[in-house]
Amino acid sequence: MDALQTTPTATSEANTAATARYRNNFLQEVEAHVEDGQWVKMCMQCGVCAGSCPLGAHWQHTPQKIFQMIRAGQREEVLRSDAMWMCTSCYNCVVRCPRKLPITQIMHGLASYAHKLGLAPKMQPTRDFSILFWRNCTRTGRVNELKLTLGLYFKDGLLAGIKQGWTMRYVALGLLKAKRLNPFELFGGHRCQDQKGIAAMLKKAREIEDQRQRATH
Ligand code: SF4
Ligand code: SF4
Repeated sequence: MDALQTTPTATSEANTAATARYRNNFLQEVEAHVEDGQWVKMCMQCGVCAGSCPLGAHWQHTPQKIFQMIRAGQREEVLRSDAMWMCTSCYNCVVRCPRKLPITQIMHGLASYAHKLGLAPKMQPTRDFSILFWRNCTRTGRVNELKLTLGLYFKDGLLAGIKQGWTMRYVALGLLKAKRLNPFELFGGHRCQDQKGIAAMLKKAREIEDQRQRATH
């Protein structure tokens, strides 16, 4: 969660601190900071995950390769890669891995850690969507689909947004007709009743995450 709320200065400082602390030991860094990172050393490089991933062959690195790169200390190459951001969470790899590695979680954990350190590739669509989605749903506790869609269309500028809106006009009309799109959602929209409860829950989650991070430093 915190990973989506970092500032450029904070990310740069976090990266410098991590580089200094884990010099030449990227595996240890992953074990300490990445969700389920302690599993990486269990990989026996059988290649089943790489062969099972429906899209992995088209990525920069398959999960199998990423795990080997972590052990080889290729920190920059791993954290700057967009391979982790391409994982669709289909869990094919997880059900087939003979060592039962939580591969999906590690992939998302690596993406989140790279974002937190400011190393994730810029303009990566999954990353952009994650940030938009998080900001949208934490504001009221409910996702405002209209604002989320418009946010996506206009994230690359006014002209790009208008073009995308025009391309999707028939879909929008169809949704309007089917009463699946309410233009008035733009002026507020539905929200969770217990706004204070949502804020308190997020605050608590942030505290737990901070505590967890402090414990690993
Ligand atoms: S299937 Fe499991 S053990 Fe085999 S390469 Fe992938 S992560 Fe490693
Ligand atoms: S969960 Fe991700 S890494 Fe695993 S097979 Fe599916 S897309 Fe590939």
